[in-house]
Amino acid sequence: MLNKKKYASVLLNYYKSFGVETHIQNKPRKRFESCFSGKKNENSLKTKLTNLKKEIINLDCELKFKAKNFVFFDGITNSNVMIIGEAPGFEEDKIGKPFVGAAGKKLDQMINAIDLDRRKNVYITNIIPWRPPDNRTPTNDEIGIFIPYVEKHISIINPKIILLFGNVASKSILKIEDGITKIHGKWFNYKNPFLKKEILTTCIFHPSYLLRSPSQKKIAWEDLKKVKRKLTTLKI
Ligand code: URA
Repeated sequence: MLNKKKYASVLLNYYKSFGVETHIQNKPRKRFESCFSGKKNENSLKTKLTNLKKEIINLDCELKFKAKNFVFFDGITNSNVMIIGEAPGFEEDKIGKPFVGAAGKKLDQMINAIDLDRRKNVYITNIIPWRPPDNRTPTNDEIGIFIPYVEKHISIINPKIILLFGNVASKSILKIEDGITKIHGKWFNYKNPFLKKEILTTCIFHPSYLLRSPSQKKIAWEDLKKVKRKLTTLKI
């Protein structure tokens, strides 16, 4: 009786004797699918996000003792578009999800207008995962604690486009001095140490700012239209 290896070698020599040089199968074998295809493996995404969550929860940051809930993300993990805001407010802290209060409703209106939807094709997170007391702006020290974890978060989701909403997200992710009034609507090739490739990134006025200053809505709408055009060009 031939063992498997011997049998395979006999069979190959037999085929060779007919002049066969290549073996074509009916169906392609997707050997590298999990590494290189655009499809992201849902299970490995979930595990990576769970591990990241544990790492962040264990961080040494006073904010966690003052907040009710840890606010990590909302939306679709397999998205090509990632939205990053500043920090949870009162409603987000109560519910444990980003952008669910008044600013969240405005954000939904803004992105829905360009066919993006957190239930279908968008992933949403914040720079800071715990509500700063009285909704104050996070300090540079607080931002500094979380930035490496947001960078890791971006590499896990690995979107094709990042939308940074507001000044805090824009300046801290892009690591630039210019404020949102100067850089909104511009495109950046974003890279961080966890990423293999650059990601197209743009900045948009924060929905809370638009609620306070409705006259700026027109500018935000122009920027959103630029995003829509980019999504169409890239067939996203
Ligand atoms: N503002 C933000 O930046 N993020 C939220 O989750 C809510 C309000």
